[in-house]
Amino acid sequence: MNPSVNHPGSGSDSINASSAQAPAPILFRTSTPESEFHAAIFSRVFNHRRPSFSSSSPNYPVRLPFGYCKPVTISDVLSCVAVANAENKRISIRSGGHSWACWSVRHCAILLDMIDFEGGIESVRWEPERGEGVVSCSSAVTSAQLNQFLERGQRVFPGGHCPDVGLGGFLLQGGMGWNCKNWGWACEYMVGVDVVTAEGEVLHCSETQNEDLFFAARGAGPGFPAIVTRFYLGTLPLPPMWQSLYFFDIANFKDVLEWMIKLCPTASPTLEIVLVSAFVPQSSTTPTLTAVFTSFAPSYSDALAALTSIHDSLPCTPSSSPDHPNRFCQPTSLPEEYAAQLAGNAAPGFRTRSDNAYLSSNLSPPQVASVLEPAFSTLPTKQSTALWFAMNPTSRRELKGGMALSMQSDHYFSVYAVWEEEMNDERCDEWVRGVFDKLEEDEGTLVGSYLGDADFQFRQVGWRFWGEKERGRLEEVRKRWDSKGRVCGFLRGDEAVDGGVKSVELK
Ligand SMILES: Cc1cc2nc3c(=O)[nH]c(=O)nc-3n(C[C@H](O)[C@H](O)[C@H](O)COP(=O)(O)OP(=O)(O)OC[C@H]3O[C@@H](n4cnc5c(N)ncnc54)[C@H](O)[C@@H]3O)c2cc1C
Repeated sequence: MNPSVNHPGSGSDSINASSAQAPAPILFRTSTPESEFHAAIFSRVFNHRRPSFSSSSPNYPVRLPFGYCKPVTISDVLSCVAVANAENKRISIRSGGHSWACWSVRHCAILLDMIDFEGGIESVRWEPERGEGVVSCSSAVTSAQLNQFLERGQRVFPGGHCPDVGLGGFLLQGGMGWNCKNWGWACEYMVGVDVVTAEGEVLHCSETQNEDLFFAARGAGPGFPAIVTRFYLGTLPLPPMWQSLYFFDIANFKDVLEWMIKLCPTASPTLEIVLVSAFVPQSSTTPTLTAVFTSFAPSYSDALAALTSIHDSLPCTPSSSPDHPNRFCQPTSLPEEYAAQLAGNAAPGFRTRSDNAYLSSNLSPPQVASVLEPAFSTLPTKQSTALWFAMNPTSRRELKGGMALSMQSDHYFSVYAVWEEEMNDERCDEWVRGVFDKLEEDEGTLVGSYLGDADFQFRQVGWRFWGEKERGRLEEVRKRWDSKGRVCGFLRGDEAVDGGVKSVELK
């Protein structure tokens, strides 16, 4: 495919990306009013700390995209790829816009915004010939939208906790979704993907077709060397949900975390177990701990038994207030939990920076509590949070083979610095950097990192996201399918330095 192109800057605001009906136009930066281009480029981007179009400083990396398109059909995607090849530009992709460091806004790239692809939410359909409960959808469909569709068939997909995370970014990096501790990684439910490659081939990938791309689709994250146009996903029977929730004073951090870690090996395998530090309410002067136990057991009696054994072993008296009461075995649902997640997230307009680590499963509960206490108790702003997410027993079983995803441990730890004013950028950066620099000093504490909460502008892509074998294979797959680096890979701090086209090596 090599459609005729009005060269950007030649006076035309757009070109038709597809010669078929309803073509999707490409907006070019050089020939589109800046405010219009800016609005398009940053539509649905969660983080309001954004790359700049016009200045360069460590806080404002320059990323000048080449163009923007909202493909609706495969033919539109193919045309964008052809334009990128003809113009020697790159392709970046947006599904839900929730990557923390805004991975989809890239230097010298045509941004494919998948929001309208095949009708967005209308693209979701059952795939009965592929197996019971198998569903497929395009990549900008969100966790909440997919689960709303599945509810009609009494099924559920272990999508992200936040309702508006796009399945595209979430699944490609592995997907630490609801009940990941027990249900496993979301990408383990992937049974196939349709893709358009950097050379413009349309392929289906599965365990038996184009296996190397299917390997990469389950864990390469933004290093996936093609454009996913459809995911095929297994689902689970929809269970009822119950929840216990306890607030604790931050002074009890060590007791609470040690208790939660010790619970995991014997707790019911129907419980999701999470500890969060946050200012609750925001007027409080110290962070509060919230221990959340969410049951996905099939019946109330099972949930009650699982949550009673937790309740009976509380390590200290929880604190609570009329506005934030403790809960014991209360009914809940995914829609309610999604609403709670949205309420807990920073309001639109906030700036964020995240980072994360898997802590060694060999650490004792007191060691884990000791290394995490500083982060949990020194949050830099009233909107910031720190999180410990129990992964045992998922972390104790062999991961399904043939996936790039290969890193996990019993303890997932992440921080989300959130702030409003630009003047706090440096202070919040320093806080995040300080937390992880300190952890790295203690040899044997960190074993790896999850792409989903990573920010490559501050910590480069290294071995830590995959096992050595999987990292090597991923590099081979990227070289084979996109030797020129046409599809933007991992964001680097020096994005704009050499025109944006990068080597495909995972340095
Ligand atoms: C509020 C919030 C809550 C979160 N909660 C969770 C959670 O519970 N669990 C979890 O695991 N993560 C979570 N995350 C992290 C989130 O999953 C990742 O940031 C993910 O990359 C976001 O996906 P997206 O499609 O929304 O982002 P986008 O920024 O649109 O996409 C990220 C990158 O993925 C790649 N990509 C996306 N779509 C395609 C495609 N169709 N083809 C090829 N490449 C593609 C591109 O490289 C793109 O730049 C959360 C993030 C936020 C902001």
